[in-house]
Amino acid sequence: MSTELQELFQKNRDWAADVEQNEPGFFSRLLVQQTPQYLWIGCADSRVPANELVGLLPGELFVHRNVANVVAHSDLNALSVIQFAVDGLKVQHIIVVGHSNCGGVRAALQDLRLGLVDNWIRHVKDVRNLHAALLEEVPPERRIDALVELNVLEQAHNVCDTTVVQDAWSRGQDVVVHGWVYGLHNGLLEDLNITARTPADVPAAYQRALAGIRARYVAA
Ligand SMILES: [Zn+2]
Repeated sequence: MSTELQELFQKNRDWAADVEQNEPGFFSRLLVQQTPQYLWIGCADSRVPANELVGLLPGELFVHRNVANVVAHSDLNALSVIQFAVDGLKVQHIIVVGHSNCGGVRAALQDLRLGLVDNWIRHVKDVRNLHAALLEEVPPERRIDALVELNVLEQAHNVCDTTVVQDAWSRGQDVVVHGWVYGLHNGLLEDLNITARTPADVPAAYQRALAGIRARYVAA
C-alpha cells in the first residue's frame, strides 16, 4: 500500500460510481437531508461494520462507535450523538450492539494492561464487578461472551437512563431502546430482548434480558 493511500481513493471512486449507477441521483438526494430511523451504538472493532452488516445505505443509519460500545453517564460524545439523533433526527430506535470475543471486554475480564484505554475499559470492569457472582458460575472459556452480553445490557440500560431518552419518553416521542450482539464467527445479530419503549418497560426488560443471559451461560 502506498504512503498516500491511493488505493483507498481509488476504491472510494469505484464505490461512489457503483452507488450512483445503481441509484442515479443518490448523492444529490442525500445532500438535502438525512432521515435515518436508527441510531447504532457499537464497538469500534473493524470487524463490525455497522451499515454493511444490516445492509443499510448512507443516510439510513446514524452511528456512534467506541471501544466496547460503552454509554457512560458523563460521556459528552455519546450523549451528544444520542441527543442529536433523538431530538434532531427523531430516530425511532437506539440499538446498542456488542460483539462476540470483544477485545475491550476481554481486557476488562482479564485485567489486561493496554495503556490509556484501560481507563475507558474501567466502565466494562464496572459491569464485570456488578455481575461478578453470575460470571463466576459461567465456564471460564465462555465468560468473555457472557460479559459481552452483560455489557450490552448495562449500556442499553444507561441509554434508557439518559435525560435525552427520559425526556423524549415523557413527551410521548416514540423511541425504542434495544440491545443486540453480533457474532464474529457467523456474521449474525442476536436480540437480547432488552427492548424498552417506556420508562415502565425498563425494569422488566432488564430482568428479562438478564434471565436470558443466565439461561444461555449458566448450566441449570
Ligand atoms: Zn469490541
